[in-house]
Amino acid sequence: MTRRIALLGATGSIGTQAVEVVARYPQLGQIVSLAATGSRPQLLAQQAESTGASTVAISDSANADAVRTQLRARGLNPRLLVGPDAVETVAGELSGGGDGSGDVVLNAVTGSVGLRPTLAALASGARLALANKESLVAGGELVTAAAGPGQLLPVDSEHTAIAQCLAGVRPEAIDALVVTASGGPFRGRSRAELGEVTPAQALNHPTWNMGRVITTNSATMVNKALEVIEAAWLFNLPLERVEVVVHPQSIVHSMVRLVDGATIAELSPPDMRHAIGWALAYPEKLPGLSRPSDFTQAQSWDFLPLDEDAFPAIRIARAAHARGGVAMACYNAANEEAVDAFHEGRLSFTGIVDLLADVLADPALPQPATLTVDAIAAAEAWARSRARELIGAAQ
Ligand code: NDP
Ligand code: MG
Repeated sequence: MTRRIALLGATGSIGTQAVEVVARYPQLGQIVSLAATGSRPQLLAQQAESTGASTVAISDSANADAVRTQLRARGLNPRLLVGPDAVETVAGELSGGGDGSGDVVLNAVTGSVGLRPTLAALASGARLALANKESLVAGGELVTAAAGPGQLLPVDSEHTAIAQCLAGVRPEAIDALVVTASGGPFRGRSRAELGEVTPAQALNHPTWNMGRVITTNSATMVNKALEVIEAAWLFNLPLERVEVVVHPQSIVHSMVRLVDGATIAELSPPDMRHAIGWALAYPEKLPGLSRPSDFTQAQSWDFLPLDEDAFPAIRIARAAHARGGVAMACYNAANEEAVDAFHEGRLSFTGIVDLLADVLADPALPQPATLTVDAIAAAEAWARSRARELIGAAQ
């Protein structure tokens, strides 16, 4: 039977590349459902046509008419699910085979709104290819508890790299994970030099072409902070054994240092289709998935320490993770508010990370007795509202 694929966040950077990868490698299965907010109705309808998906889910009902019109214009009549729960519904309706032969949910929505769909996919037994790192950052304890062996595969170049480096490595042989960071567009700048950064400059990433939130997060290094936490949850290691090194070329996607002093690295040209294809095909390999490295050409790669004074985002995240509970969920939610405010001209670039420190320092930060999805959602609502107050007060 053909494997079914649900694509959440279909119209985004990862989603559109996933459509390409599945079209190129039909052995991966068939995309049967597409989910998005519906803000790009034409693209979504085009994807419904090219993939033959039988279900389209949109989270924002204000976009329903535009999506219907675009579907009809193509003579398509898929099942249309509309509303805030639609994405979670499609995430949870496929099934698992226990051995990787089952269906796959690729969660590539942006933001911690991805947590419920992540949990729904895991509950269904399907494989979860997870690009939505925010669901692990906000709900790592719940997500890892819900994931069966081999059920959760990362779609993030660093974590996909680490997973490949760890093939055949026993847990006790791991000394540390070394996550590489491109350093973003402002590498080498001091904190004072970051004050005047504009949204357009922050969106001009040197090596990766990604959605707005993750591109901004790459410039502030919040993305790397989220990835360090993501790595700790995925590979079940304490945070002090997850290191960061700046590697501007983005060719070595991450490394694992072993207790005997050897370091294993995965490298390939920067192209997210590699990570997407790796997760969808696992444990098979897709021939020609990425351009091979060419060692007949002279090249040099740099590895530099991170300037944590100019970019304190990771230090703040490490402290939040050490507190446990909902602290990282609050960090991420406050960051989502801060990124919006920055792009709307209401907050400076350095103000984004300063805001995270201020929200986390607030004694009113929730401390729920039991960690549940609802407790996380309540804490996030608190963090967003606190962030908005602080942004308003600073203006
Ligand atoms: P984009 O902003 O390009 O796309 C986001 C997608 O999610 C869009 O399809 C959007 O729909 C959809 N979406 C957003 N909010 C909702 C919601 N509430 N309900 C349903 N769908 C929603 O983001 P990216 O593709 O860049 O990133 C997606 C995820 O992958 C993020 O978690 C990011 O951190 C992660 N990631 C991305 C990488 C990259 O190279 N882009 C690399 C590694 C990880 P619509 O178009 O209708 O608005
Ligand atoms: Mg990454």
